[in-house]
Amino acid sequence: MAWSYRRQCLAALGLQVALLLLGMGGLALGGLAIDVVRHALDEAAPAPPWPLGWSPPAGASPMLLVIILGGAALLAAGMRAYFNILYAVSVNRLVQGEIVPSLRTQVFGKMQRLAFRFFDGNASGALLNRTTSDVQAVRSFVDLVLIQSLIMLMSLGLYLGYMLRHNVGLTLWCLATTPLLLITTMVFSRRVQPAYAANRAQMDDLVLRMSESIQGMAVVRGFAAEEILEADLNRRNRLVRDGQQRIFRHISLFSPAIGLLTQVNVIVLLAYGGSLVFRRALSLGDLVVFAGLLQQFSTQVTNMATVVNTLQESLIGARRVFEVLDTPVEIESPPAPRALPAADGMAGAVQFEGVTFAYGQGRRPALEAIDIDARPGSCVALLGPAGAGKSTLLGLIPRFFDPTRGIIRIDGVDLRELDLDQLRRQIGVMFQDSFLFSHTVAANIAYGWPEAPRADVERAARIAGADDFVRALAHGYDTVLGESGANLSGGQRQRLGLARAILRQPRILLMDDPTAAVDAETARDIWSALAETMHGRTTFVATHAPALLQRADVILVLEAGRIVERGTFAELSARAGGRLPALLGDGADDHHPDASSRAAQSGAIRA
Ligand code: ADP
Repeated sequence: MAWSYRRQCLAALGLQVALLLLGMGGLALGGLAIDVVRHALDEAAPAPPWPLGWSPPAGASPMLLVIILGGAALLAAGMRAYFNILYAVSVNRLVQGEIVPSLRTQVFGKMQRLAFRFFDGNASGALLNRTTSDVQAVRSFVDLVLIQSLIMLMSLGLYLGYMLRHNVGLTLWCLATTPLLLITTMVFSRRVQPAYAANRAQMDDLVLRMSESIQGMAVVRGFAAEEILEADLNRRNRLVRDGQQRIFRHISLFSPAIGLLTQVNVIVLLAYGGSLVFRRALSLGDLVVFAGLLQQFSTQVTNMATVVNTLQESLIGARRVFEVLDTPVEIESPPAPRALPAADGMAGAVQFEGVTFAYGQGRRPALEAIDIDARPGSCVALLGPAGAGKSTLLGLIPRFFDPTRGIIRIDGVDLRELDLDQLRRQIGVMFQDSFLFSHTVAANIAYGWPEAPRADVERAARIAGADDFVRALAHGYDTVLGESGANLSGGQRQRLGLARAILRQPRILLMDDPTAAVDAETARDIWSALAETMHGRTTFVATHAPALLQRADVILVLEAGRIVERGTFAELSARAGGRLPALLGDGADDHHPDASSRAAQSGAIRA
């Protein structure tokens, strides 16, 4: 990833080289000034080592030379300041302006295409972390690790070169403790990495619990669990804090240890370098330059701690980000999708042939050996206790999952050979609860089709019986949902869900118990709206509502993932020992998750 930003990284490095050279130049000018002064005071002292074979015109006053040298050093400092600003701006533009947004887009884009399986295995809090803080951790690899370590290497190399050229012996003495520095850094990095990993996992956990407790606020309050929840969150909060303190203790040990080791360098410099100056083997100016360079050298070595530190953190973040980016997309359009036989999309024949599906390897199949042959425009009702596999069966048709075995065909074409978008555009889905986004009502109905004509949106809403209450909202179809006063009842949400499902006039309708959680009257309205919509469309509907079951061309009774009975309502009711009466009687609702659906169904029975 960093490689794709090599141009910008190189530009940043170029600025750093300039900064380094200017810094060293400034130091050298200072050393030169000292030697000029010393030479002026004591003729016997070595002559100032003017660079590039240049020397001042004879008779130039030392004062003037010192002023000129000082001016040049000031100029170098000014240029350094300017380059530092340029560097900060260009690096920021690179990481916050390019890398972070592009990574976020990539991670989010990938999540959109990943199978539901991925989301079952990853909590939403942890996934949000991946698009926010983990992405930041990854970008810090570029500016705080990659660029910084290159800068570190370059400056260490330059300083070392300069020092060696001036005095090999002194340099070697000064750097005698460097291996110790490296060992300390390595030991430190080994210790801190697991602590960082553990800490991020704990942080994920905390975020997950917090977001759950906000989403489930009603349950928390309803069951007076505030104190338990708070105690639990506090415990997790403390865990995160303890982890961070452990890490901090390591870090705070590391820097002083490194500092101590580098101070040893300075002592050696003064002892050995001082003796060289006495013996006139080194000029005083050079000693000062050496001291300055050593200071810089130590700063860079201490920087190593920060770099190592950030490296750990960014590698952990990177692992979590690239885990998302590298997860193979299971459900994809084939490279060369097949066209459907019908000219205007699809006719809507749906066939299941020996379909078996399991959520994950080694798990009990949620569906087994399913055979269905639905003619275009027919209505297939799915009936069965909770957990029988009704939702799973519905989810296979828009390819939310692919069958583990067997084939599903639409108009005779294997779903896996069709273009995914084209397939899903021909399917209208409606779930037990319609998720509404914090958009306008119109945008919610036209979700996924923002350019839908307003007249179509309103027509769909009218069919779904939503038009009246939408017009009564403060801004009608332009009311933004989720804002104060614009909260809708369960029944109203389902009507919007129905309008959304029918807006595109899909050939296939999938209804997953859409009236499970609404009152009897609403259920009745929704079913009658559906009856109108279902005309001419292939419909798969999971329901216990007898009115709809009676209308269905075929009822499939599911039990533990298998079709145990099939036939029309009349056939199934007449069958001796059949399951239909039990499923529709009071016994049925023992399995049913939502008691309010019983009211809905009895409403539908009356209808
Ligand atoms: P129904 O819609 O009839 O209530 P489902 O299709 O939701 O039944 O579930 C069928 C079976 O698959 C159940 O045993 C359920 O526990 C399991 N199941 C459903 N969704 C998942 C999932 N995302 N991951 C693992 N198992 C699942």
